Amino acid sequence: MDIPVTPFLVGNSLRQGADDGHIITSINPADGSIAGRVARATPEDVNDAVAVAWDAFRNKPWRKLRPDQRAATLYEIGRRLLAERDALARLQMADSGKPLKECLNMVDSAAGHFRYYAAVCETWQNEVTSPRGEYFSLALAEPFGVVACITPWNSPIMNEAQKAAPALAAGNAVLIKPSEETPQLAIELARICAEAGLPQGLLTVLPGLGEDVGAALVKHPGVRMVSFTGGTETGRAIGAIAGQRLIPVGLELGGKSPHIVFDDADFDKAVAGVISGIFGSAGQSCVAGSRLFVQKSIYDRFLDAVVERTRAIRVGMPDNPATQVGPLVSRAHRDKVAGYVDLARKEGGRVRVGGEPPADPDLAKGCFYMPTVIDGLSNKARVCQEEIFGPVLVALPFADEADVIEQGNDTPFGLAAGMWTGDYARAWRVARELEAGSVWINTYKQSHIATPFGGFKDSGIGREKGLHGLRLYSQVKSLYWGMHEKPLGL
Ligand code: NAD
Repeated sequence: MDIPVTPFLVGNSLRQGADDGHIITSINPADGSIAGRVARATPEDVNDAVAVAWDAFRNKPWRKLRPDQRAATLYEIGRRLLAERDALARLQMADSGKPLKECLNMVDSAAGHFRYYAAVCETWQNEVTSPRGEYFSLALAEPFGVVACITPWNSPIMNEAQKAAPALAAGNAVLIKPSEETPQLAIELARICAEAGLPQGLLTVLPGLGEDVGAALVKHPGVRMVSFTGGTETGRAIGAIAGQRLIPVGLELGGKSPHIVFDDADFDKAVAGVISGIFGSAGQSCVAGSRLFVQKSIYDRFLDAVVERTRAIRVGMPDNPATQVGPLVSRAHRDKVAGYVDLARKEGGRVRVGGEPPADPDLAKGCFYMPTVIDGLSNKARVCQEEIFGPVLVALPFADEADVIEQGNDTPFGLAAGMWTGDYARAWRVARELEAGSVWINTYKQSHIATPFGGFKDSGIGREKGLHGLRLYSQVKSLYWGMHEKPLGL
C-alpha cells in the first residue's frame, strides 16, 4: 500500500500506528477510493496523552496567561485555518463526501469559532459583587485542567473547533477524539494550532475507535470534563460513566426535528425552507427538519410542491459545483438509511419520491441515496420517532396549533424545530410551547456563533457556542478578600 500513514503527535512523540491493525483507513464515500490512512491511537496513547496534557496545563504558561493574551494565539489559529481553507475543505470533502461548498463553509465556521473566542477573551470579565461586609468578592472562571472532546463525522473540523476554541480560551488542555470515519481534519487542526504557537501538549488529537480510545478517555481519572457530540445512545453511555465519576459533561446528541408549515405561510419560501432544512448535507445534520407537519387545508398542494422540488435536486459528485446533495458518509450508513425507508414501506408509508440509490452509473461506486419523501404514516411510526440521519423527509398533516404542538413534541428528542407562518403572535405562542433547544421562525438551520446551541430532552445537556460555550469549559471559584479594620469575632 503506497498511501502514506499520517501520524499523530503526543507531546513530541510521533505515533505512526504499530502495524496494519493500528491504522484507520478513511474511505471517500463518493467513489470508494482511499481518502487517507491515519495512525490509530490505542488506550496506551490515551494514558500518555493525559500525562502530557496535565504537564502542559501545569507547567506551560497557557492557563496563567491573561485571557487577552491567550486571544493572540486563538486569532492566529483562525487566521491560519482560513489561509489553508481550500486544502482543508478538499480534505474534508474526501473524508466525508460533503459537497465542496459545504466543506468551505465548515472551515469558515471553524475559523470563526477561534476568532469569536479570541474576541471573548479580549473582553473577558469575572463577576465582582458589591460588598456586604468588610471584604470584596469575586467569582473567577477557572479551567478544569484536562478536558476530552469526542466528535462525530458529520461536520469534521467545525465540531472540533466548536469545542477546542472555547475549551482553550478557558485555559484548559484539550484532548480530541475525532470520529473514525473522518479522522484527518482533526490532525490538521492540531498541526495548525502548533504552528500558530499553541504550546505543545495543550491540544492532542487521538484518532482512535470509540469503544476503546473514546471509552478510555471518558473513564480516565485524569480527564476532568467530557464534551461529546454524537448519537443519543453513545451520549447516554458516556453520561452514565461521567455520572459515576462525578465529572461534568456537555452532550450534543441526536434530533428528529419538526418543521411546521401553517396555511398562512409564504408558500414558496416555506417549500424552499423545508427542502434545504432536510436535504442539506444529505440529511446528515443533527438539526435536519426530518418531520414535516403541514396544516390540513394546504397539505396536498404543499406536499406536491415539495415532491416536485425534491425530484429536481441535483445529486452528484461533491466536487461538482452544480451538486446539491452528495453521498452519505459510508456504505453501512447508506444501508441503515435504506433500511428505514424499507421499514416505512412495511409500516404502510407511501414513498412519494426517491427511496432508492440513484440510477446514474457514474455514481454507482459511491454511497449515494436519492432524496426521499414519505407520507401516509402517523407520528407514532418508527421513522417518525427515530433519527435516520439521511435524506428522508416524513410528511404529516395537522389540524391546528394544539395538534401540531402535541405531535411536534411527541418524540424523545428536543434539538430543534422550525415553523413558517405569517402570524407573528402565533409564531411566538407556538415557539414557546415547542420542546426544542433552537426554534426557527420563517427560516431554518441558521446558526449564529454567539447564540447558544444544544438540546432539550434526549438531545443533550448543556449549551455550546456564545458565552454559554465558554462556561461549559470553566468551573467557578469564589474568592473573598478581607479588608477588616479589626480581627474577626466569634
Ligand atoms: P456516534 O455516537 O456513533 O459517535 C460519535 C463519537 O463517539 C465518535 O467519535 C465515536 O468514535 C465515539 N464513540 C463511540 N462509542 C463511544 C464510547 N462508548 N465511548 C466514547 N466514545 C465513543 O455518532 P456518529 O454516528 O459519529 O454521529 C452521528 C450522530 O451525531 C447523530 O446522532 C447526530 O444527530 C449527532 N450529532 C449531534 C450534533 C449536535 O450538536 N447535537 C451535531 C452533530 C451530530
